[in-house]
Amino acid sequence: MILIIPVVLHEQTRRTVLGLVNTYPVSAVINKLQQASTPSNDAACLRALGKRDVRFRRQRDFSEPKGCKVKSAVRLSSAGQVQFDNAPLLTCTMAMQLARFSEDELQSAARDVLGTTVKRVRHIGTYNCRSMRQFKGVLSQHAFANAIDVSAFELSNGDVINVARDWRTKGAKAQFLRRISSDACNAFHVAVSPDGDANHFNHLHWDMGPYRSCR
Ligand SMILES: [Zn+2]
Repeated sequence: MILIIPVVLHEQTRRTVLGLVNTYPVSAVINKLQQASTPSNDAACLRALGKRDVRFRRQRDFSEPKGCKVKSAVRLSSAGQVQFDNAPLLTCTMAMQLARFSEDELQSAARDVLGTTVKRVRHIGTYNCRSMRQFKGVLSQHAFANAIDVSAFELSNGDVINVARDWRTKGAKAQFLRRISSDACNAFHVAVSPDGDANHFNHLHWDMGPYRSCR
């Protein structure tokens, strides 16, 4: 009985929070807070990004009627030795953090665990004007280009590490994925792996939103 009570309370709490957030007034307030907290007019970030060993193009600001908004964004092509497939559209803050992470933690993990380096990062999306899957009325950080869904890594030795295929295996590829997934929890505000929930079975979600979560 003692073991059951916390589980019941936890589930009840989760349902209560889900129900509350999914009501219109609460999700509308959360969206306003998210819009207000997305990086804006971040000239200092753009200057700092320009001083790094990165290739990027500045993107025009835009918004969509549903509340999606992209400001101070870039298309990031590479950071150090790492190329990014399809030059992802990202807020400067997210691009800066991804660039730093790719040059530091990602390459350290590749060298330590695999004895090679990462040549290319593949992703399945950054900007997407949509809500969070769990909270229907609350905009995802993808709605602000403040997030990336990373699906695979191409290595300098020709190997490819694929999140969907390799996450649940045993061996060096899974070890590499688990190490960078753990490092990402410190580097980004939110980091979700395939262990987080079923929606993330094929990618690592990283974002610089206004709250912290590691799962
Ligand atoms: Zn995502």
